[in-house]
Amino acid sequence: MSEPVTVREVGPRDGLQLVGTVMPTQTKLNWITRQAAAGFKEIEVTSFVPPKLMPQFADAAEVTMSANAVPGLTASTLALNLKGGIRALQAGAQVVNFVLSASEAHNQSNVRCSTEASIRAFRGLLDWQWQNAPQTRVTVAIATSFGCSLQGDVPEAQVCAIAAQLAEAKAAEITLADTVGYANPHQVKRLFRAVAAEVGEVPLAAHFHDTRGMGLANVLAALDCGITKFDAALAGLGGCPFAPGATGNIATEDTVYMLENMGLRTGVDLDALLRLREDFAGWLPDEPLQGRLGTAGIARTFAPAA
Ligand code: ZN
Repeated sequence: MSEPVTVREVGPRDGLQLVGTVMPTQTKLNWITRQAAAGFKEIEVTSFVPPKLMPQFADAAEVTMSANAVPGLTASTLALNLKGGIRALQAGAQVVNFVLSASEAHNQSNVRCSTEASIRAFRGLLDWQWQNAPQTRVTVAIATSFGCSLQGDVPEAQVCAIAAQLAEAKAAEITLADTVGYANPHQVKRLFRAVAAEVGEVPLAAHFHDTRGMGLANVLAALDCGITKFDAALAGLGGCPFAPGATGNIATEDTVYMLENMGLRTGVDLDALLRLREDFAGWLPDEPLQGRLGTAGIARTFAPAA
């Protein structure tokens, strides 16, 4: 049986945030355009963080405007606080994905405030959006939902309580993120089921890092809970500058390959994606490319989902 599943590319944001070399704006836009042409409907294209802190995203407004013009693409952007969120909406972002951490230690390290203060900022952003840009969507990701490299354990009850508040505030979507690659498949099932019971109709999405090789197993576990939207980064690029030891997202090409092989339609042209990966290697010659499909190639028996 064929079912639609969405893979949201986050490489231009999550992937690039740890890359020291600033990618030229035109290269970013070439990447985004080609990936959209390969069948991706949503790409997280940039981050509205202070350019002084992250020069990689000094071109956030320009990338957002240009990505908005790519046919068929929803260009989403990331913000960590109210100011960044408003800046994104003022720049014309169609979607702002607000990130806060379930781990107090990670939230303090990432945005220098408590998780509670971040939830208040999220409410403030929704108020601003409601009044000034009602046609846009404000989504939210709960980072370190499965554990934290600074704090250690993150209680599931805490993640559920945060998710309930975000749903009540009318988040358009809630992503549970395994920012540091601590999750295992049983934990993924437990937490997604528990959170789903808290958030009513608000759609859930999953964001896994493959830091410890658990990424695709966790995707499968989330699929079993009815989750149909997954973040991934081309060539497994990514990490978190504030979480020691965090490395790449699950590789987009491996994720698409697994889903399509299982008969789950992603709408992605895998050959076009692998050609993009080859060119991408030339754009970031100092970055090691992750992911297995790019090395091994597509199996002779592979048939995309009908
Ligand atoms: Zn991430």
